[in-house]
Amino acid sequence: MSAAGALFARHGDGVLEIGGVPVDRLAARVGSTPFFAYDRRLVTERVAAVRKALPDDVSLKYAVKANPMPALLAHMSELVDGFDVASAQEMRHALDTTLPAHRVSFAGPGKSDAELSSAVAAGVMIEAESGNELERIRRAGEALGIRPRVALRVNPPFAVRGSGMRMGGGPQQFGVDAEGVPALLARLGDLDFEGFHVFAGSQNLNAESICEAQRLTVELLLELAEAAPQPVRYLNLGGGFGIPYFERDRPVDRTRIGDNLETLLAGQVRPRLPDARVHIELGRHLVGEAGVYVTRVVDRKESRGTTYLVVDGGMHHQLAASGNFGQFIRRNYPVSTARPDAPAEGKATVVGCLCTPLDLLADGVELPHADVGDLIVVYQAGAYGLTASPTAFLSHPAPAEVLV
Ligand SMILES: *Cc1c(COP(=O)(O)O)cnc(C)c1O
Repeated sequence: MSAAGALFARHGDGVLEIGGVPVDRLAARVGSTPFFAYDRRLVTERVAAVRKALPDDVSLKYAVKANPMPALLAHMSELVDGFDVASAQEMRHALDTTLPAHRVSFAGPGKSDAELSSAVAAGVMIEAESGNELERIRRAGEALGIRPRVALRVNPPFAVRGSGMRMGGGPQQFGVDAEGVPALLARLGDLDFEGFHVFAGSQNLNAESICEAQRLTVELLLELAEAAPQPVRYLNLGGGFGIPYFERDRPVDRTRIGDNLETLLAGQVRPRLPDARVHIELGRHLVGEAGVYVTRVVDRKESRGTTYLVVDGGMHHQLAASGNFGQFIRRNYPVSTARPDAPAEGKATVVGCLCTPLDLLADGVELPHADVGDLIVVYQAGAYGLTASPTAFLSHPAPAEVLV
């Protein structure tokens, strides 16, 4: 990550703008801190950039769990080809948008009978995670008199190098082991089988390892497709494109991934599975960099040579920035004051308002002078922020969320 907030515009006086509104003005509009703000234009631009990199006939889906804010989903529904949801509530919010139900897919382990029944009734495609789940989907369909649309989520025999979170290869709670897929395909009965889903890793900045995973995935799925009872129409290759969080992170090379995908489509998928549409599903990469978490300094204090800025937010809203969401070594998310380009005064440590040393938002970062009442902005907060944080911890009120 280069300069903090480099993707966002600046107001004339150097104040950070979110969605064209200076952040101090936005704070006044929201009426309270802390809050999350998402920049609509940045989301639109990111989707366009991803689409430009991918082959034209690839479908782009948004993984709702990255950020399920309803207004964001409404905006996103005009930009992407589909939504991937992971709970009944995410599905309800997805179905509230203008996106038709047949473009929604439902993945994730442990779907309840009630969730399966809702999905079948809605006409949403269920990405089944086990043989047992397939049976429960069948029963839901029989009870409703509706033929369920299903895909099989496959746990591949390989892992993806460079993923921040691994979700495929070896034993997994996700999907059906590839070697068990042909047996399941043989007893699908009258389920409407559309195809396959592989999602093997998240937060990957290494384009070459994503390309390799896609090559291996296509190879695997072409082989499995030979055992399918009807022509395969759906090939969801997952995604896992990351975003830069830390100083040395570099953005993922989307063009390289898109070119590799075009080679795979032209050489293998289109000739061998002419009915199949390839899907890429992304969460973090589409929204993560478009969001900020805005807090206000409540206290400034010195302790044995360290300057602490105590803000009114913390890990209960933005757990990931504290380093406690899937990181092995704590590193700082980018943060700034309301004027990201102002010269630094020295180092400060930004902590939240919770009574635990875990509530650390930025450790010894260069910041301009900030005092009680000033805003501190935490970047890369558009994905896995509020809904991936322990909001009930210490019983502070929930923050506002705005799409600007
Ligand atoms: C979480 C998840 C995603 C989104 O992952 P990102 O890293 O946010 O892109 C996509 N597909 C499935 C099945 C998921 O569980």
